[in-house]
Amino acid sequence: MKILVCISVVPDTTTKITFIENNTQLNLAGVQYILNPYDELAITRGLDIAEANGGNLSIVHVGPVESEPVIRKALSMGADQAIRIDALATDSQFVAEEIAKIAGEFDLILTGRESIDYNGGAVCGLLGALLEIPSINVVTRIDYADGIFTFDRDIDGGRETIRCAGKCVASAQKDLCEPRIPTMRGIMAARSKPLQIIAPQGNGNFSTYSNYELPPSKTGVKLIAAHEAGKLIDLLKNEAKII
Ligand SMILES: Cc1cc2nc3c(=O)[nH]c(=O)nc-3n(C[C@H](O)[C@H](O)[C@H](O)COP(=O)(O)OP(=O)(O)OC[C@H]3O[C@@H](n4cnc5c(N)ncnc54)[C@H](O)[C@@H]3O)c2cc1C
Repeated sequence: MKILVCISVVPDTTTKITFIENNTQLNLAGVQYILNPYDELAITRGLDIAEANGGNLSIVHVGPVESEPVIRKALSMGADQAIRIDALATDSQFVAEEIAKIAGEFDLILTGRESIDYNGGAVCGLLGALLEIPSINVVTRIDYADGIFTFDRDIDGGRETIRCAGKCVASAQKDLCEPRIPTMRGIMAARSKPLQIIAPQGNGNFSTYSNYELPPSKTGVKLIAAHEAGKLIDLLKNEAKII
């Protein structure tokens, strides 16, 4: 069995986001990059399935050379090899089209439910459409037996189970598993695992970002004593105007 996990390289959640060039570009100076947390879950569950079925797990990332330390982190978790498509990825359609060109040979393709920076949540569905295979979004269980992948998804008020015989793509949601922590042996082994670099085959990104804006800064907090419920209602009604 061949499994492909797509990884996104995102700013550390503690990064202070600022913009440059009149708010048209992210200020990348000093930004610390990490493996997208949902992709860690996809790698972990993909490895469980590959190991139980004598399979092989590859990583793919669309991004520049600066992403390689994060790709090595994915390899240190246990992935067998990685492919970096050497292009600056600025939209999900471009990312999905580039990955689709190399993904045809894989039995299972996994993504995260969303990248925690741009939060598009689009790559999984786009890959399904481009490869003409089922795409199952936001899964909390992935199992494999007798040629059939089984997925659980949380839905309003319950859970649904989906079975797929044959190739499919799914996106990892929290609760899928606990992410694997790379061991020292894994970190050492990752240094010499194959990392193939290929040129993009498409014509570049489909969209450009024209402007960024930070959310308005938070206003001060008013503390109302528990015995002053009337005052709270008055403020909600006449000041915040939300009731
Ligand atoms: C100027 C600029 C530079 C950027 N440079 C990079 C970069 O170097 N690396 C980067 O990862 N993102 C980069 N991004 C962000 C990237 O463009 C988006 O993450 C990408 O377009 C996917 O969009 P999305 O938010 O819809 O992904 P989503 O659909 O929310 O992502 C879901 C899943 O798709 C997969 N995925 C997402 N992006 C990638 C990717 N690039 N390669 C492989 N799998 C992926 C992952 O499994 C992810 O969990 C950049 C954005 C801008 C504006």
